[in-house]
Amino acid sequence: MHKDKSLIEIGLGALAEGTNEFNFTCKAADFKGRQLADAGFTGEIKVNVIAEKSDDEVTLTINTSAMGDFTCDICLAPVSKKLTGTLVLSYLFSEAPDDDDGGDEEYIRLDRSADSIDITGEVCETLLLSLPMKVTCTDNPDCRLYSSKESIGNNEEPPPDNVTSWQESLEKLKNKYR
Ligand SMILES: [Zn+2]
Repeated sequence: MHKDKSLIEIGLGALAEGTNEFNFTCKAADFKGRQLADAGFTGEIKVNVIAEKSDDEVTLTINTSAMGDFTCDICLAPVSKKLTGTLVLSYLFSEAPDDDDGGDEEYIRLDRSADSIDITGEVCETLLLSLPMKVTCTDNPDCRLYSSKESIGNNEEPPPDNVTSWQESLEKLKNKYR
């Protein structure tokens, strides 16, 4: 039976001491079982991974860059945005899993005999975390018109005209003494 190859994995055998760089290009549809296309990732997804290897640990810095297609929260116009995300993962080689006292929470234990690290899930998380909370258009004048109208509506009272009110009171004063 053929086992599905991981979409994004870092081969440990080929990893040199020091800094290694990897680049992957994928599509939302490649991440099976994840709803990345529904989330707005419709184009190419670029993944850059910096792997720093030392004697007993590997640190992976995942950088994702992708165009997302959304609709504006205000006027529902289509909006394309470039989304970038970063995630840092630290792996610690361990030979005896038994002495894991749960101390170092920030490290992920990695078996010394492992020949690769599958980061497909982590890349997917990074992409989902890079999604914007709010989407509004930046170059649609109609949308801006709508939102500025709204802010004027909140402040309907015109600013007091000092000159007029001063003249009015003077006028009243004159009438009083006439
Ligand atoms: Zn809009």
